[in-house]
Amino acid sequence: MKLFEYAERLRQLPPYLFKEIDRKKAEVMARGVDIIDLGVGDPDLSTPEHIIGEMKRAVEAPANHRYPSYSGMNDFKEAVAGWYQERFGVDLDPDREVVSLIGSKEGLAHLPLAFINPGDVALVPTPAYPVYNIATLFAGGESFFMPLLSENNYLPDLKTIPEQIAERAKIMFINYPNNPTAAVADLDFFARVVEFAAKHRIVVCHDAAYTEMAFDGYRPCSFLEAEGAREVGMEFHSLSKTYNMTGWRIGFAVGNEKGIEGLGAIKSNIDSGVFQAVQKAGIAAIRGDQSCVRDMVQVYAARRDIMVRGLRVAGFEVESPRATFYMWVKVPEGYTSTRLATRLLEDAGVVVTPGNGFGEPGEGYFRIALTQNRKRLSEALERIKEIKF
Ligand SMILES: *Cc1c(COP(=O)(O)O)cnc(C)c1O
Repeated sequence: MKLFEYAERLRQLPPYLFKEIDRKKAEVMARGVDIIDLGVGDPDLSTPEHIIGEMKRAVEAPANHRYPSYSGMNDFKEAVAGWYQERFGVDLDPDREVVSLIGSKEGLAHLPLAFINPGDVALVPTPAYPVYNIATLFAGGESFFMPLLSENNYLPDLKTIPEQIAERAKIMFINYPNNPTAAVADLDFFARVVEFAAKHRIVVCHDAAYTEMAFDGYRPCSFLEAEGAREVGMEFHSLSKTYNMTGWRIGFAVGNEKGIEGLGAIKSNIDSGVFQAVQKAGIAAIRGDQSCVRDMVQVYAARRDIMVRGLRVAGFEVESPRATFYMWVKVPEGYTSTRLATRLLEDAGVVVTPGNGFGEPGEGYFRIALTQNRKRLSEALERIKEIKF
């Protein structure tokens, strides 16, 4: 069966755990039920006007229609470095410590190709954004899973990583503020990661997609603020969530020069950079008035408050998240994640994501994305309350 027989890397993909819920969703929808989808982490708010305006102007300019530079326009990389200085107090060399990405997922997915040899290990959190594990597998590596447990505030317990695994590990992925648990990490945790990584010579990849989506005055820090972080690590950022630009495909990686160079070498052989008009729009986002970000945070904070209060009244155990637009909710006694998600879908027309889909320790939880307006969230709560958990 050689013809179109999938390569090992595709055949070893873990089973897609959302298949069943996707099928049920289609079934319920076909019955004409008005579905409220709290499943996907894709902002329902639109990209701010001034960013769209810049895109329109940039699209008109023939200079932007050509191949962009692989690593990003100088102006884009300078805008990123300027933002890092202002936001985190971290100095970056725009030439050597910044690279543009076609969304941060692209960079995260390509990074292992630069550093993982067959048989090498990557330390991967679980539950987590699936890209870290799959990118490791695609590079021929093995994932060693670091469970994120509520008793550790969803931080990996570095002490439990066996010595011989740490010695074989080339990369460690971390992500704070975290998807799916909404957990946050402080500088003290990042300092411990730096110490661990320096000791075992491991590249740290911090996925920082949600640093700007934080509530009640909380300001998440950058991994690069930790002393010595630049010697071992890189940070991946995205404009997707901060400026409601998921469809535009723009992000960036910053940090260790060799890390950026390695990622750049992979990328320059696979893609040809980010459309310059999109980079121009990205510059407008990063350098422009940040009141749009504050407004976005206010919108999600209000939604969060409605949802936390409502779910508690409905009998659920949930913490009020300090960051991200997710809520990580414990399933009630007598349910598994899948059974709970199925029940909410069939009896309330509400889509949530079963926690086990993000990895085995996510069993017993479900994730809600606050990507519907307050009216729809209230409607979802009314329906959930009727089920009487
Ligand atoms: C949404 C998200 C991203 C961003 O992906 P883009 O490719 O930049 O759109 C990265 N990491 C996590 C954990 C996310 O949830």
